[in-house]
Amino acid sequence: MDSIPDHIESSYSENTSVGNNSSTGATSSSSTPSRYENQKRRDWNTFGQYLKNHRPPLSLSRCSGAHVLEFLRYLDQFGKTKVHTPICPFYGHPNPPAPCPCPLRQAWGSLDALIGRLRAAFEENGGKPEANPFGARAVRLYLREVRDLQSKARGISYEKKKRKRPPQPLPALPPPGANMVKLFYSIVATIKLFWVFCLLPEKQCLDLEQFSS
Ligand SMILES: [Zn+2]
Repeated sequence: MDSIPDHIESSYSENTSVGNNSSTGATSSSSTPSRYENQKRRDWNTFGQYLKNHRPPLSLSRCSGAHVLEFLRYLDQFGKTKVHTPICPFYGHPNPPAPCPCPLRQAWGSLDALIGRLRAAFEENGGKPEANPFGARAVRLYLREVRDLQSKARGISYEKKKRKRPPQPLPALPPPGANMVKLFYSIVATIKLFWVFCLLPEKQCLDLEQFSS
């Protein structure tokens, strides 16, 4: 059992795990499953094994966010990421110059990506979205807590990476067509004004001339 979740962190470096999160929607319709799909299937099997070995026995339908947290904490023993404790002299150092006895944990990026894949797998295997334990609020809060803790302990800013993402389109801007409509109405208004002030007096003059002649 101890060797089951070994792939979770070992097969992914932290950076690819974080990056994968934004591209998880990459669904290829080709016959060969993508790396993401393979990983998702393996994660789902790992979780199934975990439920199978759980004492007391636990079925998927009775699995809650609390059980998911239990699973994540269980995975930490297989982690390969050094997370310094506040009393360690290397606390907050991204590249410590010497070894220290601080514990190894699953990196936040790995856990975040893992939960994303399991959340998708749950629904693909017939689970209802509203009953998805991987989408539970407690799981979201736990991941945020791990992120903040590891960010401080390892001297890494995860926020920075987020800000590098392309900015969202601004919702306040009017659609492109709206400007064309405005332009059209302003041209019509200009033509009307031109007609009233330039053409109309001239026409009246012509009429007067005809009348006088
Ligand atoms: Zn340390």
